[in-house]
Amino acid sequence: MRKRHPNPRLAKIHRNYTVEEVASLFGIHRNTVREWVKRGLPTSDGRRPMLILGRDLVAFLSARRAKNKRTCQPGELYCVRCRAPRAPAGDMVDYVALTATLGNLAAICSVCETMIYRRVSLAKLTSVCGKLDVTLPQALEHIGERAQPTVNSDLE
Ligand SMILES: [Zn+2]
Repeated sequence: MRKRHPNPRLAKIHRNYTVEEVASLFGIHRNTVREWVKRGLPTSDGRRPMLILGRDLVAFLSARRAKNKRTCQPGELYCVRCRAPRAPAGDMVDYVALTATLGNLAAICSVCETMIYRRVSLAKLTSVCGKLDVTLPQALEHIGERAQPTVNSDLE
């Protein structure tokens, strides 16, 4: 069987769907839909037939898609709360060195304002960051001393 990635856009947010309708909408098996329900797709509770709200379906599939597609474009960091790659607020990131060659990028999600991180090797820093402003802390020159993860005060 071909592995399909259902397109969330096929679902209409103002409609309700039965399991069968969802299955035929995406051309998938009903058991796949039941599997989604087991994995957290919300349904109308206790009613028969079980109904799935279009907007729940869209949200569920979009989140799943983002999870399957974790690779961020240059200049993006994966936001756990948004479940999507996001651009940092103000296009600013801090590089926090973990070792001489490896570090974390830390920034603030431009959408939900939580901290977002991306592991990066120093060698790939430029290609990963794209057009972002990268702050390299002093600690980069003193790898032995573990630096406090600095939060840039002008981001506050
Ligand atoms: Zn976010």
